[in-house]
Amino acid sequence: MNILVINAGSSSLKYQLIEVETHEVLAKGICERVGSAQSFHKHGIDENERVIDAAMADHTEAMALVLEALTSGPTKVIDSLEEIDAIGHRIVQGGKYFPRSVLIDDEVIQKIDELAELAPLHNKAALMGIEACQTKLPGKPMVAVFDTSFFQTMPPKAYMYPVPYELYEKYDIRKYGAHGTSHRYIAERAAAFMDEPLGDLKLITCHLGNGCSMSAIDHGVAVDTSMGLTPLDGLMMGTRCGAIDPAIVPFLMEHEDLTPAEVNDLMNKKSGLLGISGISNDLRSVREASEAGDERAQLAYDMYSNSVKKYIGQYIAVMGGVDAVVLTAGVGENCEKMRRMIFSGLQPLGMVLDLEKNKARGGEREISTDDSPVRILVIPTNEEFMIARDTFYILQERQLAEELDLSTRTNLT
Ligand code: AMP
Repeated sequence: MNILVINAGSSSLKYQLIEVETHEVLAKGICERVGSAQSFHKHGIDENERVIDAAMADHTEAMALVLEALTSGPTKVIDSLEEIDAIGHRIVQGGKYFPRSVLIDDEVIQKIDELAELAPLHNKAALMGIEACQTKLPGKPMVAVFDTSFFQTMPPKAYMYPVPYELYEKYDIRKYGAHGTSHRYIAERAAAFMDEPLGDLKLITCHLGNGCSMSAIDHGVAVDTSMGLTPLDGLMMGTRCGAIDPAIVPFLMEHEDLTPAEVNDLMNKKSGLLGISGISNDLRSVREASEAGDERAQLAYDMYSNSVKKYIGQYIAVMGGVDAVVLTAGVGENCEKMRRMIFSGLQPLGMVLDLEKNKARGGEREISTDDSPVRILVIPTNEEFMIARDTFYILQERQLAEELDLSTRTNLT
């Protein structure tokens, strides 16, 4: 079964066509700067990637280009759109309504729209992706896979904020988390790697990329996570500040004469690695500058690793122990130096990094010593595969339900 996975951003449309039973990625690509004069389309896998300059005024036009690339010319991988069985959409915010992935209908679309207040850029963009598919692939089943679903198992003591309870009742202000599909994937893969049932393990999962989040997964159930009402909370990130003293917000608004939107912009786009180093949100550039002696870059590096270290401590306390710490995403998968800094000094907590294994690159791997009481794993994330798999399961469920319904009716007549 071929599933088209769509991850729509406000000015981008990322996609993969996945043959879900064989796990094969048939094609992938991204349309960038959608709606601007500099828009372009990158299509292809690894060395076969091609960049195509193409005008696309909106997501529907971008979708048309994607479908054309999939079905014609040198990039063709399928003969016709009939070979796409269903579409899986990544949706950032599912609020309290979606503890699991769902088949998209008008009601689901309306809820995603309502929830846009909690993730304005992301949910509106996802709706553009859904609309583009409705226009270009009418009648194809579509499934919504929410970043927040995995964290709907958190207990109230973890998801509530200590602000007046009425605000929770009035606005649903609480922790929802994000990156849930990635945490779910690496937890499952970590259990498979360790050859133990996920239900027997206490895991701390770390998604460390430009956006960063960590979660505590106790016997297969997410019990806490670092991102909050929005993806701004928690760890220091590329451009986001993560958790800071909330009193800083009114202080800045008053002293810098900032509007709520401006202070939000400052915390989301001008903080984190970029804000501290003044150089870049990209850890590679910050590392180069720190190694060349730039003190602010060194400080940014130290703060980032310290931020991760503190959450490791918190989550050991939350779960009363940990069997493995699992790292993923751009920094978690690739930055040997950051991993070294994160785990330095954590030997008393049972985490002993193997410096040689830590230098290895690529694939699922263990980087702790053979006798480390807590295992440290690197698992490359694969959110697209999870979206394709959820879409596949939901279609199967639907088919089964239809068959059962049919057989019940047949028995009745
Ligand atoms: P992501 O959001 O998962 O794409 O991750 C992006 C982050 O990963 C950026 O800060 C990159 O600098 C960082 N990154 C990617 N590759 C490396 C690497 N080899 N060394 C250090 N950081 C890396």
